Amino acid sequence: MTKEWITEMEVYLDNAATTKPCAEAVAAAVEAMTEKYGNPSSLHRAGLNAQLLVDDARKAIASAIGAESDNICFTSGATESNNLALRGASAAYGRKRKKIVISAVEHASVEETAADLEKNGFVAVRVPPREDGRYYAADFVNACDDDTCLISMMYVNNETGYILPVKETFSAVKRRFPGIITHTDCVQAFMKLPVRANALCADLISLSGHKIHGGKGVGALYIKKGVRVLPVVTGGKQEKGIRSGTESVPMIAAFGAAVKKLVPTIAERYEKVAGLKAYLLDKLGGIEGVAVNSPEDGSPYVVNISAVGKRSEIMLHFLESKEIYVSSGSACSKGQQSGVLGQFGIRDKRADSALRISMTAETTEEELDLFCEALCEGMEKVRG
Ligand code: PLP
Repeated sequence: MTKEWITEMEVYLDNAATTKPCAEAVAAAVEAMTEKYGNPSSLHRAGLNAQLLVDDARKAIASAIGAESDNICFTSGATESNNLALRGASAAYGRKRKKIVISAVEHASVEETAADLEKNGFVAVRVPPREDGRYYAADFVNACDDDTCLISMMYVNNETGYILPVKETFSAVKRRFPGIITHTDCVQAFMKLPVRANALCADLISLSGHKIHGGKGVGALYIKKGVRVLPVVTGGKQEKGIRSGTESVPMIAAFGAAVKKLVPTIAERYEKVAGLKAYLLDKLGGIEGVAVNSPEDGSPYVVNISAVGKRSEIMLHFLESKEIYVSSGSACSKGQQSGVLGQFGIRDKRADSALRISMTAETTEEELDLFCEALCEGMEKVRG
């Protein structure tokens, strides 16, 4: 695998926060901005050309999760997809059933939306991992009842890489409560692990463009045929009336181009990153004071560690001074602890010193060497 689109100078290990757009995505966006700049809703040829770009991207993204084009609703990103899923489905199905079940380790775009729904008459039940830091389908099923309209559970946790048992949970929930709508935030799983809508028993799936080398400001919500989601954004009735607003054709085209590029190599890329994770863990084992917070069987793309005794932010800036970029906690929270690590049993000093290293298949062992060298130096030089 080449490093064709990664800058040579810096060591960028914050790919769970965002990825660098691939050359194909950039080219697709440029084409949409310079040549096919029509409004997809316009009836003339310029509009049609833009519409064809949107259709093409929709087909590629649908096919990547084993769905039909009709199932894909474009949004401005996964934050909006998650809002649309929770607000839209609870509006459609929650007139009498007022309970929503979510995992206690969701991204803020699910957690805060659930909290907001609570202000509007819903009850949100947050299912924590067990003492062993793991999730079990039975705990979600037990949290559901006849008053539940929706369950939302992410596939891969963005802070630790932990893989939640979505398929087992959703199939068990559907067996017992067929009327419950199932939603999964697949942002950190898409193009990394197999994400198939039917296999996951998912009615709704959130995706994001910028986590897969596509570009920022675009996402999608998969909506299973027959499942109702009331619009959150109303207006010109684009996206079959589910999400009004002129489609961001350049970013949609970029998203589609990235998906087309990555689909044929998902397994190969996974193997490569799994090898990088093993390499990294081996090297980290030799650095005194470093503890690993991610589970062994988590997504290899995210490795959470603690440089125990060194505050995350201080270590982060020390690494930054050497042009090495990692994250403290989760990127969205700007260094604020989200509480998710605590849910996984990582607390106090260990949580205060957590760093997230997130890789892509273009990451190299040399970059990990540079990171480990700098971390070693930081362990000596950085004052807590
Ligand atoms: N869900 C997860 C798990 C994420 O990691 C993120 C981004 O950090 C989001 C949702 C939000 O995605 P977006 O930036 O596309 O709004």
